Amino acid sequence: MKFIKYIFALTSISIMISCGGGDQKKEEKKSVKIGTSTSTSTNDENTVNVGLTGNDLMQFSAKEIKVKAGQKVNLTFRHVGKMELAVMGHNFVLLKPGTEIPAFSLEAANVGKDKDWIPNDGKDVIAHTKMIGGGQSTSVTFTAPEAGTYDFICSFPGHSGLMKGKFIVE
Ligand code: ZN
Repeated sequence: MKFIKYIFALTSISIMISCGGGDQKKEEKKSVKIGTSTSTSTNDENTVNVGLTGNDLMQFSAKEIKVKAGQKVNLTFRHVGKMELAVMGHNFVLLKPGTEIPAFSLEAANVGKDKDWIPNDGKDVIAHTKMIGGGQSTSVTFTAPEAGTYDFICSFPGHSGLMKGKFIVE
């Protein structure tokens, strides 16, 4: 952002210098327009806010999440149920390509609470939230990986059969 503004400022100055007399006003107007549209689209395309919930019936609110490669993803995850973390914990775990959901879930169950249900120090994971219980909310910010279709799951023991979806990067 700052960088773009800086470039824009330099461009305006050079336009002002190169144009003399009556043309100056016209050129200034034109360059302001360009500057405005550039900064707006940069904002919109660089950050995306994603809202996701999980409930007491082991359901995510979305089966598909779509973002664009390189976007900064602000994902807010809420547990809209009432059950406690120990019996109905939920998290959002975005798996790296090639990670098998059943095998990962088994390892997650094995490491359990001590590692927040993320096995192998997170080497199979692109991003994840912490595990939360009913009524709680959490968030995670990460950069969307390269284009492709990725799996997201809840890694609480026994949940990934139902609690899974596709994270699609375009
Ligand atoms: Zn869960």
